[in-house]
Amino acid sequence: MKRIGILTSGGDAPGMNAAIRAVVRKAIYHGIEVYGIYNGYNGLINGKIEKLEVGSVGDIIHRGGTMLHSARCEEFKTREGQQKGIEQLKKHQIEALVVIGGDGSYQGAKALTMQGFPCVGVPGTIDNDIPGTDFTIGFDTALNTVLDAIDKIRDTASSHERTFIIEVMGRDAGDIALWSGLAGGAETILIPEENYDMNEIADRLRSGNDRGKKHSIIIVAEGVKSGNEFAKELKEATNYDTRVSVLGHIQRGGSPTASDRVLASRLGAKAVELLIEGKGGRAVGIQNNQLVDYDIVEILGTPHKVNIDMYQLSKELSI
Ligand code: ADP
Repeated sequence: MKRIGILTSGGDAPGMNAAIRAVVRKAIYHGIEVYGIYNGYNGLINGKIEKLEVGSVGDIIHRGGTMLHSARCEEFKTREGQQKGIEQLKKHQIEALVVIGGDGSYQGAKALTMQGFPCVGVPGTIDNDIPGTDFTIGFDTALNTVLDAIDKIRDTASSHERTFIIEVMGRDAGDIALWSGLAGGAETILIPEENYDMNEIADRLRSGNDRGKKHSIIIVAEGVKSGNEFAKELKEATNYDTRVSVLGHIQRGGSPTASDRVLASRLGAKAVELLIEGKGGRAVGIQNNQLVDYDIVEILGTPHKVNIDMYQLSKELSI
């Protein structure tokens, strides 16, 4: 292995830069050249490819976003688009590719692998929805951003004795909602993996009120429904007025936490190790704090699971 490529694709996530840095430096340490592909699969098709040196990835470990930029690319979902990508890789004599991104980006890596071009996937998404890894790069930072918002909203909820509904990201996964809700002491957490019972939520709010509790925090994962829709439903069921906060894209930005930087560094380096061993068509992850790798084709058929014990615990702690 003499030359590898690297790209970031799909939604950006804090810690992607730390992963890029790790891939570039680990590869150069082992005498391998690294080419950065800008704007995800779009840049791959259009040949936006440049050599990266040790210094190219200096001063980025603490920055959110991705220095390689990201883009969506519909054309790459077609065989012709993928062939154009492979031609560009061959033109630059790139022998293998590291793809940092989420589920959609893994689909692209899988398509290349199935056409004989070796790829390794590195899980980079705030949603924590990639099967085969306990955590994805960016999740911890997003979680802490949400937690900070919950704490601040709790102050005003408490002063004004109000119920707040906070809508958080996560696409079809409830991890951001569940973890931030548990950490923030939310009274109710709605995740797409579990149905909710409006009567139970109403009872919980009323019994809290009867105990003298005058404010509540309800976390709604975007995969369930919008915070505003839920506020309307709650009003119809209970006549309670609420305030809704939609946290939006602030959840994707910011300087990565120590935990995300360390995770990104470990996973990025592991991806290069696999390529040095001649193993393509893999995805890296972390399970029980051990680095693991698995078949990228097989893993994409496995659904992501939320931690149901934690969900149950959140209910027991918010009686
Ligand atoms: P994420 O990686 O965050 O899940 P997307 O789902 O938007 O983000 O996917 C990112 C990009 O990956 C898409 O714009 C597209 O270029 C590529 N991609 C997604 N699905 C496929 C697929 N089935 N085959 C090939 N490429 C895909």
